[in-house]
Amino acid sequence: MIVVVSGPGGVGKSTVVAELLRRYPDMQRSISVTTRAPRPGEVDGIDYHFVTEEQFTDWIDKGLFAEYANVCGHRYGTLKSSLEAVRPQEILVLTIDIHGGPSIKRLFPGALMIFLKPPDVMELERRLECRGSETPEEMAERIELGHYEMTFAKDYDYMVTNRHLETTVDIVDSIIRSVLRR
Ligand code: 5GP
Repeated sequence: MIVVVSGPGGVGKSTVVAELLRRYPDMQRSISVTTRAPRPGEVDGIDYHFVTEEQFTDWIDKGLFAEYANVCGHRYGTLKSSLEAVRPQEILVLTIDIHGGPSIKRLFPGALMIFLKPPDVMELERRLECRGSETPEEMAERIELGHYEMTFAKDYDYMVTNRHLETTVDIVDSIIRSVLRR
């Protein structure tokens, strides 16, 4: 099963997914392709496949992406090959921006779409400040994007407010398990 975890930048998608994967070894994370530079500690082929603009464009032209999007000046995409290999009882979790989600749903209608929502906009702004790896311009752009992204929530199957990490992970996990049992 393909599970898409999406929501505004800074809402905590990566943290929620990391905790989910830590708890449940039967879940796997899809590794996206990006043109942004690795952050300290990030490893190529584990966190992302880090590629050049030219490489990314070439892979678009070759039709290798299930979806791709531009987020804050960098390109991110999910390779079709990583989704096609998923077996029915496998759980592959995608952490992607809200624009990419609907494309996945179109190609893989069985995908489970989960939207993470911040408790309120102030909290979202605080989290972005804490991240500390963006310039003020990039941060302002991300905050603006966060407001706009909230309008996409309706395209998803479930909306979960990320108030406390543990609770959010419990809820997301129970959604996944209940859908798997159907
Ligand atoms: P970051 O640079 O902080 O790792 O990610 C920035 C944004 O890009 C996040 O909202 C993240 O979910 C999104 N993102 C990561 N991988 C993909 C992908 O493959 N496709 C799309 N559409 N967005 C992605």
